Amino acid sequence: MAPAILIENGTILNPGSAPQVLSGHTVVIEGDRIARIAPARAVRGTRGRRIDASGCVVMPGLINAHTHFYSALARGLTKTKPATEFGDVLRNLWWRLDSALNTEDCHVSALVALIDAIRHGTTTIIDHHASPRAVDGSLDALARAVAKTGVRACLCYEVSDRDGAGIARAGLKENTSFIRCCQKAADPRLKALFGLHASFTLSDRTLEAAAEAGRELGTGFHIHAAEAQSDQTLTQRAHRARVIERLQRSGILGDRSIAAHCVHVNRREMGILAETGTAVVHNPQSNLNNAVGIADVVGMSQRGVLVGLGTDAMTANLLEELRVALWGQHERARDASAGWAEVTSALFTNNGRIATRIFDLPLGELREGAMADLAITDYDPPTPIDSGNVRGHLLFGVSQVPVRTTIVGGRVLMEDRQLRLDLDEARLNARARERAKALWQRL
Ligand SMILES: [Zn+2]
Repeated sequence: MAPAILIENGTILNPGSAPQVLSGHTVVIEGDRIARIAPARAVRGTRGRRIDASGCVVMPGLINAHTHFYSALARGLTKTKPATEFGDVLRNLWWRLDSALNTEDCHVSALVALIDAIRHGTTTIIDHHASPRAVDGSLDALARAVAKTGVRACLCYEVSDRDGAGIARAGLKENTSFIRCCQKAADPRLKALFGLHASFTLSDRTLEAAAEAGRELGTGFHIHAAEAQSDQTLTQRAHRARVIERLQRSGILGDRSIAAHCVHVNRREMGILAETGTAVVHNPQSNLNNAVGIADVVGMSQRGVLVGLGTDAMTANLLEELRVALWGQHERARDASAGWAEVTSALFTNNGRIATRIFDLPLGELREGAMADLAITDYDPPTPIDSGNVRGHLLFGVSQVPVRTTIVGGRVLMEDRQLRLDLDEARLNARARERAKALWQRL
C-alpha cells in the first residue's frame, strides 16, 4: 500500500447531508480511502506524506452527473448555421460535429475534458458519448483517457436511430461489449451505463433491444429525457405516450438509471420518476443556452425525485453550474428565495448518491471510510464559516477561486496547480488544436 497522505492545517468542509466545518483537524488517507479525520495532535505521530493546506479549504471532490467529453473540440467553433429552436441546435451543430469525430478525436477530447475537470476539483464524471461514424471502440478510446488521468468516470454510448439502423445496432453492441468489459475488470474508477440518445430519435425496436440487453447485463440507462418540448410532441405523435411514460413502459427507468434534463415533464411523469427511483440530472446552463426552459427542480425534489446536477459540457466548474441552477430556480418561481435547499442538495448530496449507486462506493462525502476523492482550494474567508453557512461559502466564495490540489482514490492528480500525471498538458493542447482544426474542416 502507498504511504499514508496527511492533509494538515486546512479547514475541512462537508456540505453534504450533515453539513460540517472542522478546523485544527487532519485528514489521513490510507490507500484509496479516508482513514481518519482527527484533531491534529491525535495523528501527529502518523507517518506519511504531508500536504500543507494552510489558508485552504478541504472539500469533497465534485461530481459531474451528466456531461459530454466529445464536445471539448467544439470550443470556439463558429462554422455553424444559426439555430432558433432546439432541433436546429442538434442538426446544425451537435449532430454535424459528432458525425465528423473519429476514434482519436474522441480520445483527445476526453483527455482535454478530464484535465479541465481535475483543474476544477471534479473527481467523478458521468459521461454520455456519441460518434456515429466511429462507434466501435469509441468507449475504449475514452476509457484509455480516463485511465491516463485517474479521474473516476462512468461511460456510455448514446444509441440512436437518427443515422439509420446499422449505426443504431453498432451503438447497442458498443454498450453491451463495453459494459461486459467493465463488469469483468471491476475497476473502481471505471463504470458504464447503457446509453440512449432521447425518446424522439429511438424507434420502439431499438428501445426494446436496448432494454433487453440492459436487463441481461443488470445495468441502468443514461438518456436525455424531455429536454425540449419537441421531445414530448414527437413522442406523443409517434407513440401516443409522454416521454417518461414511454421510457417506463420500455423498462428503461429504475434506480440505476439517469434521465438528463426533464425540463418538460408533468406531475404524472414526476411521480413515475420518483416511484421508479430514476435519477434526474439538471443542466441549467445548457438549458438556458438552448432556450428550452428551466426544469422544475423544486417540484421534482418535493415529489421525491432524486435530482442531481450536471454541466452538459457547458463548463468544467460545477460550482459555477450550481450558481446558475440557483438563479434559474429564482427566476422560474419569480421568488428570490426559491430552491436553495433543493439546488444545493442536488450537487452536495444527490450527486454523491447517484455516483454511489453506479460505482457501489461511498462517494461525495468527506468522512472516515469514504473514498479519498477530494479537492483543496485557497480560501481565507472574510466572514465566519460554520456548518450553517458552508454551502453559502462554497457558492459565493469557493466557486470564485482556482482549485489547488485534486485527489482521487488517494492518488494526487494535481498538487499546487501542477498536474501530477504522465502527460504534458501543453503538448496535449497543441495536439487537440490540430485535431479540432481538421475536424472543423470536415464539417
Ligand atoms: Zn447532454
